[in-house]
Amino acid sequence: MTNGAPPAVDPDVADQIVETVARWVDEQVIPNASRYELADEFPHDMVEQMKAFGLFGCVIPVEYGGLGLDHLTYARLIEEISRGFMSLGGVLNSHLIVSTMIVRFGTEAQREQWLPDLATGAKRACFSLSEHDAGSDTRSLRCRATPDGDDYVINGTKMWVTNGERAAIVGLMAKTPDDKISCFIVDKEPGPSWSPTAGGSVTTAKIEKLGYRGLETVEMHWDNVRVPAANMLGDQAGMGRGLNAALSALELGRINIAARAVGVARAAFEAAMDYAQRRETFGRPIYDHQVIAFKLADMATKLEAARLMCHSAARKFDQGIRADMEAGMAKLFCSEVAAEIALESMRIHGGNGYTSEYPVERYYRDVPLMIIGEGTSEIQKLVIARQLRDKYRID
Ligand SMILES: Cc1cc2nc3c(=O)[nH]c(=O)nc-3n(C[C@H](O)[C@H](O)[C@H](O)COP(=O)(O)OP(=O)(O)OC[C@H]3O[C@@H](n4cnc5c(N)ncnc54)[C@H](O)[C@@H]3O)c2cc1C
Repeated sequence: MTNGAPPAVDPDVADQIVETVARWVDEQVIPNASRYELADEFPHDMVEQMKAFGLFGCVIPVEYGGLGLDHLTYARLIEEISRGFMSLGGVLNSHLIVSTMIVRFGTEAQREQWLPDLATGAKRACFSLSEHDAGSDTRSLRCRATPDGDDYVINGTKMWVTNGERAAIVGLMAKTPDDKISCFIVDKEPGPSWSPTAGGSVTTAKIEKLGYRGLETVEMHWDNVRVPAANMLGDQAGMGRGLNAALSALELGRINIAARAVGVARAAFEAAMDYAQRRETFGRPIYDHQVIAFKLADMATKLEAARLMCHSAARKFDQGIRADMEAGMAKLFCSEVAAEIALESMRIHGGNGYTSEYPVERYYRDVPLMIIGEGTSEIQKLVIARQLRDKYRID
């Protein structure tokens, strides 16, 4: 198994896993999420529970210790987790992007080396593509991996590395000779700094964020870090194929973001439904003012459309074929809809929505990340438009 579709998962088993996680979200995540998020504190207990459920290996094939779930089930799990605490969906995202890169583009020896520890969550991974001047414009990245004997020596500054401090494995995109972008799988010590015995150092600096808190996103400095040549993803055949591998795995990342957006939108919608039936003005619940009920009808309709698009993209990805247009459409639509629903929910909450007493302010702060991360809405439109021209070309 490498590039093909995952084996079919018994629908009853998939439902049971999703229901178990949904119950845990109701009982343990929702009551505690705002506390962690407002304090910007890493939710260790929740992450340990996700490990116990096997979620760090949920889409890693069974032969490497994962659960081997299909990506539709993955999207349903991410929705459930994110309606409780969106940052938890991010803990899984970069980890599974890197795992998927290794599954799809690694050699058999590399799969055996890294996937079992990734599958259990014993080691967590971060994905490091972006830099200060290379976000949308990925090809202009400057981090360099220079060959030296049996090693590569890495120098440069990466930006926006989510999970970057606590991760023990980095999926790092760097320029190799002739400006070819290659991917390296680097083992590191979790923590703010690390000096490998082979030489060099890695230091991280935390970035303060509007939302998506409780989970670190860091700037990462690589100073003469020596990495064995065998750590190039795909070994020497992987030379120059790093961006290709990253963009392929980002299809999964975009499905994750779409599912996170659906989760937050659902939480915002459900909070508004609850509030609208309790809050009274002019002698009746605000739900009985038709303008509010119609807002909620619109929110519910958009939420349902977003979920269907997300699931449709996950099904396409499950077929093991290129799904960048579907993943891009789902990411674009779900994130923009989530932003609308979060704002509408805040409006329905009136002044209370603007306070930290109610979680809607967290949903409102969290949704812009889904518009920006894994490629902005504008970049999704570029991806979609390119595919449309190929599909409908008239010359
Ligand atoms: C909280 C957070 C976590 C992140 N985590 C990670 C991570 O773990 N790993 C990682 O590698 N990256 C990560 N990122 C980076 C993220 O993917 C980038 O921020 C994103 O791709 C946008 O890049 P940029 O910030 O450089 O914006 P820019 O590329 O500078 O874009 C600025 C604006 O210009 C627009 N724009 C750019 N080019 C075009 C164009 N050709 N046509 C039209 N409009 C255009 C953009 O849409 C945007 O509106 C994270 C970002 C954030 C905020």
